[in-house]
Amino acid sequence: MLAALVYFGVLTFAHRCGLRLAARAAFAWGGPAQPLPDFKLMQLELFRLPPILSGEATKAHHLILSGRIVSYALRRDRRRLTMRIDERGLAVGAPRNLPLGTIEAFIQSHGDWVLKKLDEFASHTTPRHLPIHEGARLPLLGEEVRVRVTAGNNRGLWKTDGQEEELWLAARPAANLALLARRALQRRALEHFQPRLAASVAQIDRPLPPLALSSARTRWGSCSARTGIRLNWRLIHLPPKLIDYVISHEVAHLLEMNHSQRFWNVVARLHPDWRDTRNELKRLGAALPLI
Ligand SMILES: [Zn+2]
Repeated sequence: MLAALVYFGVLTFAHRCGLRLAARAAFAWGGPAQPLPDFKLMQLELFRLPPILSGEATKAHHLILSGRIVSYALRRDRRRLTMRIDERGLAVGAPRNLPLGTIEAFIQSHGDWVLKKLDEFASHTTPRHLPIHEGARLPLLGEEVRVRVTAGNNRGLWKTDGQEEELWLAARPAANLALLARRALQRRALEHFQPRLAASVAQIDRPLPPLALSSARTRWGSCSARTGIRLNWRLIHLPPKLIDYVISHEVAHLLEMNHSQRFWNVVARLHPDWRDTRNELKRLGAALPLI
């Protein structure tokens, strides 16, 4: 029997997430982003998405879905038949010996979904933001929290109900719920970042630099000898380990305002697992929601 698997996790997550954020960004690590005569500024860039599928086993194919020609990348070294769609298009993974007809029948059987998702990703006018409303779920520190909306004075409150954490938005009738949620996330981000930064800086025996949040579309963080460390508040969506990596990266710049081997040695001392975490950051960071 054919083990067919559609990654619904991927497609639902991708559906409500702002991939533009990463797609726009340059694939580069740091380097001064602008000429700064008096002080140095190192920045940790967001990432361009990697090619949807790569490697020797990947080939471009086409098929017709409801009268439309659809291209897809087929990778034939997978154990199961899978489909994935993001702004790079449709990617199909399949076992080596599976007949092409079976693969294309599988795509055809999900044709409506494929076309709908491709259109969503192709259209820049379709917002890929995460709408905030009663019951919405948003990522926080790698987990999901539920949004509760209640009448009130335009405040956001983090509450733990048993084991589940919730974001309560006490809102006036015409309130901008997204704005309330953003503020609550930013406050939460600062509360989370501050002690993690202090712990990291303590390891290099330097005074604690000023910390500020940024909303940069293209950077996770930056470190300036003059103004201190800035961290993108959207990091609060990601697992704590990834946040710690970004903090370690910026803290390492307090010693080395460059990306030399000496810099990476400091990063490795602060965050021994930095390579894996950096890859995870590329993967998860590309799918951050826009709220
Ligand atoms: Zn850097």
